[in-house]
Amino acid sequence: MLRGAIPAGRIAGIRISVHWSLLPTLALLASLLSLSILPVHFAGRPVLLYWIIGTVAATGFILTLVAHEFAHSLVARRHGVSVDRVTLWLLGGMSELREEPPDPKADLHIALAGPITSLLIGVVSLVVAFAVEQVTGPLVTAALVWLGTANLIVAIFNLLPGAPLDGGRVLRAVLWHRSGDRLAAATSAARSGRALGLVLILLGGAQANVFGSGGIWLMLLGWFLRSAAHVELMTASARHRLGDLHVADAMTPTPVAAAAGDTVEEFLASKASSSHHRIFPVVDPDVHPVGVITLSDLARTTPAARRRTTIGSLARTLPDADIVTGDTLLADVTRAVLLRPGLDLIAVVDSEQHLTGIVTATDLVRGCDRTALGLSLRDHPTMPGSGSGSSSSGGPD
Ligand SMILES: [Zn+2]
Repeated sequence: MLRGAIPAGRIAGIRISVHWSLLPTLALLASLLSLSILPVHFAGRPVLLYWIIGTVAATGFILTLVAHEFAHSLVARRHGVSVDRVTLWLLGGMSELREEPPDPKADLHIALAGPITSLLIGVVSLVVAFAVEQVTGPLVTAALVWLGTANLIVAIFNLLPGAPLDGGRVLRAVLWHRSGDRLAAATSAARSGRALGLVLILLGGAQANVFGSGGIWLMLLGWFLRSAAHVELMTASARHRLGDLHVADAMTPTPVAAAAGDTVEEFLASKASSSHHRIFPVVDPDVHPVGVITLSDLARTTPAARRRTTIGSLARTLPDADIVTGDTLLADVTRAVLLRPGLDLIAVVDSEQHLTGIVTATDLVRGCDRTALGLSLRDHPTMPGSGSGSSSSGGPD
């Protein structure tokens, strides 16, 4: 989940989060409609009317983006791929799938579900727009035409053949089906996404030069696509390198944890704070991981407040997706870490949900590097009596 995204309930068992960056998008669309599109075509109506219809249409557009994402999520679930959540943000919606589609057919269906939904909404909106014109008048029709056109643009843009756009997933599914090599297909689709991002940046730049403004949005989209495609490429290569290694192989076992009930002062006085770590998992009295805290979080409290403030009240909660068991594939965790550069750690638990280890970005980089060098991930693989992943780590980095 993006930092700063707020949970906004569930639909059909799938969680929805809203990121603050959705608000500028909503405001931009509403003002575009209310100040420019509607008054230019239908002058002389009350300003309030423009704003009401503009805001309703802009909100309606956001809801159609939710429908697009839900189509991906629901089809994913039908193919046995569990969905973490749908997040709404600056550029619309984003479905977070917990695992990769099992086969090319599932990949193709999940990818196409979104654009087909946008396409259908687009066509239906346009048909309704003209059907109700006699009853509702031209302003509502104009708003519906805008909504329909916007959905058609969403469908077409998302079908551009570069990952992580839906069209890139379609490309991946087709290549995967043809070659049987999922990884090579994912790499090609991500490379195509990077190239597509560059094309959009150049087109946006050209548009900005010729028409003055307007190109900025295209450049922003291109930049977003390029960096997202880059993450896809890194994920594919990490997957290739990490193969069938498990979380228990790479985690830092028996990590130094902070107790949620301790005050900041108590924590600073404990030997935990004098370790060379800066990120700590936070545990409840039963040693279940409940959050994450960094030394920077603690530094923001005043010396006077440290006596009364508990670690638990300062800690960031750990989402369910960031708590895994030791037998989880390391490659699956890599995706979560790469997608969220600000992510602090993944907590590893046993079958009773007790904290047994943590995985940080450093652990993953180390894992990738050691496997690339042909070295074992564990420092003492032959140590007698060492359980799975519980050999001494000799310090994390
Ligand atoms: Zn989509």
